[in-house]
Amino acid sequence: MFIMEFNPTREYAAFLDKNDDLKEFREQFYLQPGTIYFDGNSLGLLSKRAEASLLKLLDSWKQHGIDGWTQGEHPWFFLSEQVGAQLSKIVGAKPEEVIATGSTTVNLHQMIATFYKPTGKKTKIVIDELNFPTDLYAVQSQLGLHYENIEEHIQYIRSQDGHYYTHEDIVAAMTEDVALIVLPGVLYRSGQILDMKALTKDAHQRGILIGFDLCHSVGSVEHSLHDWDVDFAFWCNYKHLNGGPGAVAGLFVHEKHFGTKPGLAGWFSSDKAKQFDMETSLIQAQNVSAYQMGTPHLLSLAPLLGALELFNEAGITRIREKSMQLTEYFIQLYNYYLGDYDFALNCPVNNDLRGGHVYLTHSDSARICKALKAKGVVPDFRAPNGIRIAPVALYNSFEEVYEVVQILKTIMDEKLYEQFKNEREIVA
Ligand SMILES: *Cc1c(COP(=O)(O)O)cnc(C)c1O
Repeated sequence: MFIMEFNPTREYAAFLDKNDDLKEFREQFYLQPGTIYFDGNSLGLLSKRAEASLLKLLDSWKQHGIDGWTQGEHPWFFLSEQVGAQLSKIVGAKPEEVIATGSTTVNLHQMIATFYKPTGKKTKIVIDELNFPTDLYAVQSQLGLHYENIEEHIQYIRSQDGHYYTHEDIVAAMTEDVALIVLPGVLYRSGQILDMKALTKDAHQRGILIGFDLCHSVGSVEHSLHDWDVDFAFWCNYKHLNGGPGAVAGLFVHEKHFGTKPGLAGWFSSDKAKQFDMETSLIQAQNVSAYQMGTPHLLSLAPLLGALELFNEAGITRIREKSMQLTEYFIQLYNYYLGDYDFALNCPVNNDLRGGHVYLTHSDSARICKALKAKGVVPDFRAPNGIRIAPVALYNSFEEVYEVVQILKTIMDEKLYEQFKNEREIVA
């Protein structure tokens, strides 16, 4: 199961860092002295490259005014497609299948509005009860546009242990009354990777469309969305992809669906050559661009140019490999040093099933997180009782993993968390 040798010393952590072929990327990021940032799965850090591309966009506004739409190094009119092409390498798609647009939540609404077409008895949408709340609320509200009693048209996948799904749990929900399935690529708490390829095949065999929320899988694991034949996918770019708070999100629509009418249209759904004809009815783009709505949020798009350039230089294959090593190393150290403190490790131990973070639960989790923060470690707390720890490949080191485990051990040995209330903060 483990791919690495293990040795519990600090020297070994230094040895792993020395042999890390992504180590130079760390210098590209703004890390705060005295802080160990293990929260890149919630908000990735600013890189110098992302900062530069944002400043460049401001400068193009300064210099060109309205002509920035077509002039300058990165004309704004084509920027969503340009960033989409950068994203396509990360998710295994064709450039014309990916666009940077909207937000995760907005893109999910767009996908349901576009692809949920209940017919006869086939009216249900399958979602999983462990999914991030926004996904559940979006699905529920979309169903509310069709039906008064939405619960009759939702099928929840239930987890037997509150952390994971078996393949059978999910396939059992693919009954003949199901029209559409929306699932995460990686579960946001336990970090379990779902087998997107197999699930897509299972869904299609039953005549069901399937889409994935990649918020926790994009940038942490590899995807082949096109070859897997996934119908659609959407994700945020501010977590593992370091696009900045509120960064414009990602959207994938498989080319076989090109031409499908967008459920929520706007003038940016247009064929670009026709957009400024100002016709009264839409002539839609014949690629993923059709699922945009209005003017892109350029200031939240620009950092992605630099952030993704850097990301693609490292390459998702190398990033995934180091990410697995970092989290595996954490688990090995956890087993060695933290076995006695009533933590439970509720993420997959098998590397192939674990996304980019480690998940621990403990009845004092909220205040253990506060004690970690007081010691300069940034994890995140997830209700009801979880601690997510995300050492990320581009800017974290093995020594930081080692250090965090030692700090956590001190916090537990000396009960330092008892100084804090066991309640979450307003933003956790
Ligand atoms: C972070 C996250 C979101 C966030 O959605 P926004 O529209 O960006 O607020 C949605 N779904 C999942 C699974 C997430 O992890």
